[in-house]
Amino acid sequence: MKVAIIGGGLAGLTAAAYLSKETDVQGVLFERSPQLGGRAFTYEKAGFTLNYGAHAIYGLDRHILTNMENELQLTFSSKQVDKRKVMYEKGEQLTPAPLDFVNLMKTDILTVRQKVRFVGEITAMIANIHQIKHYNTLGDYLSESGADEDVKELWEHLVCSNFFITPEDARLVPGAVISDYYHNLFLSQRPVNYVLGSWAVITNQLRDKIALTERWSLAMQEGVDGIRYEQGKYLLKTKAREESFDRVIFAMPVQQVVKLLRETPWEPFLEPYEHNTATEVMVYDIGLSRVVARPFSYISDMNHKMFISDVSATDYTLIPEGGQLLQGIAYLSDEPIDGNEDRKAYLNERTTQMEDLFDRHYPGWRDAIAVKRVSKKAMVQSVKNIAGNRLLPNRIESVPFYFCGDGCEGKGELAERAFSSGRHAASLLTADLRKHKQPVLSYRE
Ligand SMILES: Cc1cc2nc3c(=O)[nH]c(=O)nc-3n(C[C@H](O)[C@H](O)[C@H](O)COP(=O)(O)OP(=O)(O)OC[C@H]3O[C@@H](n4cnc5c(N)ncnc54)[C@H](O)[C@@H]3O)c2cc1C
Repeated sequence: MKVAIIGGGLAGLTAAAYLSKETDVQGVLFERSPQLGGRAFTYEKAGFTLNYGAHAIYGLDRHILTNMENELQLTFSSKQVDKRKVMYEKGEQLTPAPLDFVNLMKTDILTVRQKVRFVGEITAMIANIHQIKHYNTLGDYLSESGADEDVKELWEHLVCSNFFITPEDARLVPGAVISDYYHNLFLSQRPVNYVLGSWAVITNQLRDKIALTERWSLAMQEGVDGIRYEQGKYLLKTKAREESFDRVIFAMPVQQVVKLLRETPWEPFLEPYEHNTATEVMVYDIGLSRVVARPFSYISDMNHKMFISDVSATDYTLIPEGGQLLQGIAYLSDEPIDGNEDRKAYLNERTTQMEDLFDRHYPGWRDAIAVKRVSKKAMVQSVKNIAGNRLLPNRIESVPFYFCGDGCEGKGELAERAFSSGRHAASLLTADLRKHKQPVLSYRE
């Protein structure tokens, strides 16, 4: 059985690593860029290890990576972000983010009465009896909840940071999704961790697992630009070749899946997923030759919807001796902005606001820059998990392919959904192959 996987990001690498254990499966993983990892790729510059995205893991002890660690024998270390140094800036006020009971007691964001109410909400979430699961969206729940504005704002802000979406979009997250997510996260002993050494520590191991078996090959810089069906096989076309496969897994952002399947017999089935919206942000990475200040591990500017992580305060492996690595992220509005000039002005304004945030908390940063990278438009999650959007299922009726990636159905959000859907796609494919042979071990919990 010959399998093609299109996309060498976290999802595609995960699916390939699981399938490489199957002795009756051979395959090719196609990646159009020169490196693996997709949006989780890492590169080295002037002694700094820079991540295209961040490598924070929410709820590590309950995360899909824990299953993968055992099933694929991955090894990695992680470190908890110092919760006492996770701060919110609101108006002129700086206060601890209420991530746990200690911070909740310390924060000025809520009054004592509001804190009592919030503790009640957390407790109900942990016990899985929170009413929110019966509401269409977080916004619907909040508007009927009778909660004070500050409690509402706190909910929006929490969801915004865990789901990586704007506070406005946070209101659109389905109640059942919030209930599941926070039931898991509030029970976790390891709420926010970094994989020490970046996502590359994981992607390199996945790559090695695939490369170790001679049944699989990695086709780098070979973007797939066409697919057709002929005599029981799927023919994939790249600039270098056309090759036939028995099964195909799409492991790329949903927008790109839709594009690749345009003008094929399968196009109509993708139509419901065409208008999904993605989270887009501006990323402002700076590597500094010295530690200019270390007041927090994370500061969220609630006024301007942006935040800075002192990545090196948690992950000290990413910097040259004495250096500091800061990552600023600003949410971008999805309101259409007319004209190139207006768009440019908007991005310049966001850049200035970000630099002001650096100035406020990291004075001297401009003179200590060793490395700087600004990405004015980075896709964080291919499909925002909000009402109106539809995550792509791992299988679609009448479509012979398998789908995975952070825009697909799966456990968790962001990278966790990329990993979990990749694992599940591999499991579904294996189950298909074994259907008539023997009982199947499913990877899905
Ligand atoms: C700034 C930023 C910060 C982030 N922070 C976090 C965080 O802290 N925690 C977290 O969990 N997640 C975070 N994420 C999200 C995380 O990086 C993504 O969810 C994850 O990397 C998505 O993986 P994927 O495999 O689904 O997709 P991708 O990474 O997009 O992989 C798809 C791959 O397919 C390839 N491809 C596309 N089309 C073709 C084609 N036609 N032929 C061949 N190859 C093709 C692409 O080149 C790419 O390599 C962040 C993302 C960003 C941008």
